[in-house]
Amino acid sequence: MKTDVQVAVIGGGIVGVSVLYWLAKLGWTDTVLLERRELTSGSTWHAAGNTTYFGPYPKMTALFAGSIRTYLQAEKETGQSVGFHETGSLRLAATERELELFHDYAPRYEGLGIPFHVRSPEEVAALHPFIDTGQIHGAAHTPTDGHVDPTGATNALAQAARIRGASVERRCPVETIAKFGSRWVLETPNGAVTTEHVVVATSFWAREMLVPLGLNLPVYPTQHHEIITESLPEIAALDTELPSMRDSWVSCNVRQEQNGLLIGIYEEEPEFWALDGIPPDFKEELLPPNLDPLMPHLERLMERMPLFAEAGIKVANNGPMCLTPDGLPLIGPVPAMERLWLATGFNVGIGTGGGSAEILANWMTTGQPPKGLDAIHADRFGNDLSKDAALASIRKVYARGYQLPDRI
Ligand SMILES: Cc1cc2nc3c(=O)[nH]c(=O)nc-3n(C[C@H](O)[C@H](O)[C@H](O)COP(=O)(O)OP(=O)(O)OC[C@H]3O[C@@H](n4cnc5c(N)ncnc54)[C@H](O)[C@@H]3O)c2cc1C
Repeated sequence: MKTDVQVAVIGGGIVGVSVLYWLAKLGWTDTVLLERRELTSGSTWHAAGNTTYFGPYPKMTALFAGSIRTYLQAEKETGQSVGFHETGSLRLAATERELELFHDYAPRYEGLGIPFHVRSPEEVAALHPFIDTGQIHGAAHTPTDGHVDPTGATNALAQAARIRGASVERRCPVETIAKFGSRWVLETPNGAVTTEHVVVATSFWAREMLVPLGLNLPVYPTQHHEIITESLPEIAALDTELPSMRDSWVSCNVRQEQNGLLIGIYEEEPEFWALDGIPPDFKEELLPPNLDPLMPHLERLMERMPLFAEAGIKVANNGPMCLTPDGLPLIGPVPAMERLWLATGFNVGIGTGGGSAEILANWMTTGQPPKGLDAIHADRFGNDLSKDAALASIRKVYARGYQLPDRI
């Protein structure tokens, strides 16, 4: 194990591995990633892998675009598949106002060279034969996004980073972080690692990890469900994979998974998990599903996509997912803690992890913060936000689901 490095990244989910990869690409290879168990052991292994280009915040669109680009680059460099399915996505306009907003967003995509179309209900029906378009006003269509295999992408990124000289240590939990002079010392059961820079990419574990340094990060685990249906003959009969669908009225996303449907739901009353501390014996297991709060959404989905009403549920997964009070990640240096960097708080870490890592790695290697991305700066909540206030905001953010801000 490397014991004296320029950068130690803690956490081997999609985000930490993406940071390791981008640092290596930018020439910083005196690096080691330390992972408590196996790569993807946190939220990454059970994510649906949705990676869309659609988003209401113009400055964030580049993060989404950068993520797919990052994963495909790693695939090219290693030959390891990231399982990208270019199905495209439909973001339904449940209201006239949503449709107006989609038209407002269009020039941004043109500027970035990302195909973006505002579709009529008839066009939506042609693209996705199972959506009942009777109650929608149209949709935003991003035809070149889709979904990846989160585990495949993580492994490809790790392999591509290793090829350039970076190291990955699995089964190596960081037990303490302390500063001695100008260097950080990370204690692990396999020995200490001394490093100039530390990147904390430990998702909802980051909070407890940094309390001993006097930090109060507002990142908490929320329970998030995804449902996978049995195969449906109507889907098996299709020639091409269905586009992903996102709908503010149902508050869910739906994509094709083999010959069934995979549905992710943002319910109105989200449940937190492990608010008094992540159990030390938590490995990578799922949480017991609780379907009752999901029922109103599933009933609405039966109206929006009547085919779903005919499907048996094969699996209901409930996994912990990290959230911050505004739903955006914490990226960048921690003030007053020289060379301690955060890459945590991701709730769409597959969709934004690769692009965010590119931004962080550029920031670290040039010393220049990214322009116009104050919304994701690690220090934006200060250090004094109470737990109650943070949880109240997270509840609202989660329950907002796919509703768009009226102004951006
Ligand atoms: C059911 C479900 C579906 C989802 N679907 C999607 C989706 O379709 N698209 C999308 O973009 N997002 C999705 N997400 C969210 C996505 O899973 C997360 O945003 C993403 O995986 C976060 O990646 P991460 O690297 O920040 O965290 P994690 O994957 O949780 O990685 C953190 C890592 O840190 C390690 N670690 C913790 N403590 C230590 C320590 N002391 N020492 C060393 N290592 C440590 C952990 O073992 C873990 O491997 C979904 C989430 C859930 C629950």
